[in-house]
Amino acid sequence: MGLLTVGTVAFDTIETPNGKAENVVGGAALYAGLSASYFTNEVNIVSVIGGDYDDDTLELMKSRGMNLDGIQVKPGEKSFFWAGKYHDNMNARDTLTTELNVLADFDPVLPPHYSDDEYILLGNLTPDVQINVLDQLTSKPKLVVLDTMNFWMDIAMERLREAISRIDVLTINDEEARQLSGEYSLVKAAEVIRKMGPKTLIVKKGEHGALLFQDNQIFFAPALPLAEVFDPTGAGDTFAGGFIGYLVRSGDTSFESMKTAIIYGSAMASFCVERFSIERLKNLETEEIENRVQKFRDLVKF
Ligand code: AMP
Repeated sequence: MGLLTVGTVAFDTIETPNGKAENVVGGAALYAGLSASYFTNEVNIVSVIGGDYDDDTLELMKSRGMNLDGIQVKPGEKSFFWAGKYHDNMNARDTLTTELNVLADFDPVLPPHYSDDEYILLGNLTPDVQINVLDQLTSKPKLVVLDTMNFWMDIAMERLREAISRIDVLTINDEEARQLSGEYSLVKAAEVIRKMGPKTLIVKKGEHGALLFQDNQIFFAPALPLAEVFDPTGAGDTFAGGFIGYLVRSGDTSFESMKTAIIYGSAMASFCVERFSIERLKNLETEEIENRVQKFRDLVKF
């Protein structure tokens, strides 16, 4: 009945103009799960890690109420590793290394108590795994959100298209929307992508906010202008976790509800970018989150 969250649980090495963080914890399911845990206490993670993974982070996930029964541990193997570098324009980044390691032959097995989850976040990882998880669901979920990135478009476009044909909401960034659709205009790209399956498309534009497309409606959510974006890694996953987490909490998946959800997702992402890794997402207060959402309201109220 909870929120099933699939994605990488990883180690990252990150370089930004503010400094370098080596072998810090990251991964789509870690960021998204932590973010969602501020909205629901039923976050069921599906992922794979090596014997090298960090016990304190697994403990943190448990202490935030996440269920880790769906995380396979492969002793003697290495966890997924990603290295990236950001320049002054933090909207663009170079991926320096992607080592799939345990992810290369990951065969997810859904614990029985996950298989009737109503909300599904297919976070960033192999499209084969995203499809495999959908195949194991025993009842039709209320909402399936998929997040992905250019890496999978480059090496597994066909399988990704198959996954996308089976979901309700796709979240990708502007460059990925262009790559997926072959259209430069985001409005035209949204039209093309929604014909591929998802009724709703969210295009993330980094510090320029996010666009929500559904039928003939468009909603724009700004990003909070921050004096300093310290490290954008995980912002997209944190956004997706906050977005779907809010929808789980409200139980309402209408367009109106998604408008608020996109603001909550943006608020969670604005915390994520303030420090390296998951540092800022470890223990937020409800009041801090609500105050941040209020800042978004103030930003566009006139
Ligand atoms: P984001 O900045 O939201 O795109 O997410 C960055 C996180 O995604 C990092 O913590 C990485 O470990 C993880 N990541 C990077 N590349 C991939 C990939 N190809 N598949 C899954 N996760 C990835």
